[in-house]
Formats: sequence, C-alpha cells, structure tokens
Amino acid sequence: MVKICCIGAGYVGGPTMAVIAVKCPAIEVVVVDISKPRIDAWNSDKLPIYEPGLDEVVKACRGRNLFFSTDVEKHVAEADIIFVSVNTPTKTRGLGAGKAADLTYWESAARMIADVSKSDKIVVEKSTVPVKTAEAIEKILTHNSKGINYQILSNPEFLAEGTAIEDLFKPDRVLIGGRETPEGRKAVQALKEVYAHWVPEENIITTNLWSAELSKLAANAFLAQRISSVNAMSALCEATGANVSEVSYAIGKDSRIGPKFLNASVGFGGSCFQKDILNLVYICECNGLPEVANYWKQVIKINDYQKSRFVNRVVSSMFNTVSGKKVAILGFAFKKDTGDTRETPAIDVCKGLLGDKAHVSIYDPEVTEDQIQRDLAMNKFDWDHPMHLQPTSPSAIKQELDYQKIFDNMQKPAFVFDGRNVVDAEKLREIGFIVYSIGKPLDG
Ligand code: NAD
Repeated sequence: MVKICCIGAGYVGGPTMAVIAVKCPAIEVVVVDISKPRIDAWNSDKLPIYEPGLDEVVKACRGRNLFFSTDVEKHVAEADIIFVSVNTPTKTRGLGAGKAADLTYWESAARMIADVSKSDKIVVEKSTVPVKTAEAIEKILTHNSKGINYQILSNPEFLAEGTAIEDLFKPDRVLIGGRETPEGRKAVQALKEVYAHWVPEENIITTNLWSAELSKLAANAFLAQRISSVNAMSALCEATGANVSEVSYAIGKDSRIGPKFLNASVGFGGSCFQKDILNLVYICECNGLPEVANYWKQVIKINDYQKSRFVNRVVSSMFNTVSGKKVAILGFAFKKDTGDTRETPAIDVCKGLLGDKAHVSIYDPEVTEDQIQRDLAMNKFDWDHPMHLQPTSPSAIKQELDYQKIFDNMQKPAFVFDGRNVVDAEKLREIGFIVYSIGKPLDG
C-alpha cells in the first residue's frame, strides 16, 4: 500500500489530501500539522475551514484511509510520498522583506524530513514557492542524510477557495514537474499514477521542475492581472458613463479573451495573489529584469487604487465625512463561500471608514467574531471608535434581506455601496436607496 503524508493541514493540505483519499481507497493518507488545534478540528465535526462539499468528502474517508495527526515525524518517516503544503507568506524582515517568499516553514519541514527518513522518498512541493526552490530543498535533504534518495517534484495547487472541492474533483489540469533523469521520471510517474485514479491523462501535464514552479506564480499573476485590468476599466467607465458589466460582456464574447474572471469589484484579496505577485517581482529583480518587475507591480498598484477609490467614493458620497455615521459591512471574508479573511479588501475598507470615525458594524456568516477581532487588531485599528460585530449565523444571511425594512430604519438619504456588483440596484433604487455599483452609472 502506498503511503502518503502531507505536511500542513491548511486550506490546501486538508482539502487536497481528502480528495486523494476519497478517490484512492487503497492509498493511506495522513495529514500532519504542528498546530494541535487545527488537527483537533480536522478530527472533529467542525472542520477548521469552510469549503462547500468538504464535510462530506472528509466524512466519507476519515478513519478509513484518511487520518489527521500531530505526530509529524512518525508519519513522515513511514511515507513513500511526502507532500509539503506549509505556508509560504511574504517575508517581513531581512533580505527581500515585503516581496520575497518566506521559506522558513519549508526549510524546517525539509530538515525534519532529512532527520527522520530511513527510506527513499518522493518530496512534493505543494506550497507555492519561488522558481528554483527545489534546488535548495535538494541541498538541504541530501546534505543532511546519508544513503537516501530524494526525488523532488513540483506539483503546484490551482484550486480556488470557495470551489476547492469542485476544482479538485475536476481540475483543469494537474501539473507535475520533475528532474529529467531516470529517477526523476520514475517519481513523476508514481505521482501521475495517484492522480490517474480520477484525472484524465490528457489533463495531467508533466514539465521540468522550473517550469512547474514558475507556472504557479505565472497563473496567479495572470488571474490577478485580469482583475486589475477590469477594475482599471471600471474607473474609466465611471468617469465616462460606460457600464463595466456591458463592457465585460462585450469583450468577453471575443473568444480570444473569454468571459470568465471579468467581474469588476472592490479589488482582489486572499492569501495568494498579492504574495505571489510580490514574489514574482522579487524574482524578476533578482534576475536583472526590473522592467518586467515593474510590469507586475502595476497589478498590485491598481488593486490598491481600486480599494482606496471605493472608500473615497463612500466618504465623498456621504457629504465628505462618515464621522459618527453608522455603516454596516456585509461580508468580511475575501470572497464568497469561504471564511478566509487573509488580505481581504474588507480590512482596507474598514480601515478607511474607521479612519474617518464611522461607526462600523460587520457581518459575515462564515467568519467568527473572534476572527474579525483578531484581523482588526492585527491591522492596528483605532479602537476609540465604536465597532459592532454581529454574531455569526449562517441561516440569517441566507435569507433574503428585507431592504424595504432596512430603508425605513435608515437616515435619509440612504446609501448602498456594492463592492461586488451583486445587489439588484434597480430594485433598491425603486425603494429609494442611492446605489453605487462599481463601474456603473449612478442612475443604473
Ligand atoms: P495555511 O496557512 O492554511 O496552512 C499551512 C499549514 O502548515 C498550517 O496549518 C501550519 O501550522 C502548517 N505548518 C507550517 N510549518 C509546518 C511544519 N514544519 N510542520 C507541520 N506543519 C506545518 O496555508 P494554505 O492556504 O493551505 O497554503 C499553503 C500553501 O499553498 C502556500 O504556499 C500557498 O501559497 C499555497 N496555495 C494556497 C492556495 C489557497 O487558496 N489557500 C491555493 C493554492 C496554493
């Protein structure tokens, strides 16, 4: 029986391994983590992350061939294939601070693998890492153990939070990069056989190691660039009377452009896009390519601009100040169908409004009050201003909001600022709201 161990039971490690376990009943999969609360949650009825469909998948195979454990060393030692899915955040200090990926967690995982391994291992980079990381990992592993053959593979994860299970069941592609040596090819083949249990062969792409590592950064940079492109266009739409939804539809009909990922919004968030672009920028700079670095930097600049543009619109619409005014924020996670608040644009919006002394209430059915408190504290908010956190209750928000009742209870004029273009602006205008939708004329 092939044994798989995954180091890191986070948003990627947990769901990816659960899907491998459910699709490959003959493979034992153990997900390990140094965080006991996280492992306890994976072993409980309340999983540590929210993803549609995840509960069912975990329930189908937990205790059968899927296990969660804090006994990291034991399970790493026993595994044939080790996925490493630890966090790789942006460095906050030292060389490359603010841009480069922090590989501390990766390095300590690699050193631990070298310490405990007694048999040959395939080590798979599941985390997003800078191109050429496999070279460093190889050095750490081979210099710290004797007589063991390590094959490093790059198998970046392309799932999107909110649709992780769907993406894992039906991936557009699975990418595996390995060394172009006989041992390297054998390792690639072994991992291919795992995915072949449910992914059609034509969707499993194999490349050299560096192409696979770089493809993940490139994919995220292209996706974020698309959001910044449509958001840049939304500003021009507002200035000219064009409607960004109509523009998106019109350009998306061009088969070379395609209709997906063309929604204007308050800006992208999440733990990946900004971090991976900064990482790309750093790699370009280190490789003597400042012009290429500047090109990608602009994607982040536009995103920051979009968030501040939104806040400025709220404040300027409300007669240039929100001081003492009550503002309700619906939704705090970085997008729908997730409880993940890492780098959420909502934090920037809160910051802007609280900076102007608004009274802010926050509501999100998937985010706990504790989490919101932690995020706000981490972002050094001024706590002098009243802040009201609504207790979370998924059932409450899933009901339709009674906008007429909300309108009746509000001071007039009553405003709705839609950072995702999801409300029925026409209906709300009929009730009497002034509605601002990103990239659209104020009168619809
Ligand atoms: P996460 O923070 O949710 O999970 C990482 C886990 O690794 C944590 O639980 C942490 O305790 C654990 N960990 C760290 N060091 C460890 C060690 N030495 N031993 C055991 N456990 C250790 O992060 P995530 O969102 O799952 O992301 C993981 C990686 O995948 C990152 O590189 C990220 O860029 C990449 N990625 C994320 C997404 C996403 O949507 N979140 C998508 C694709 C790729």
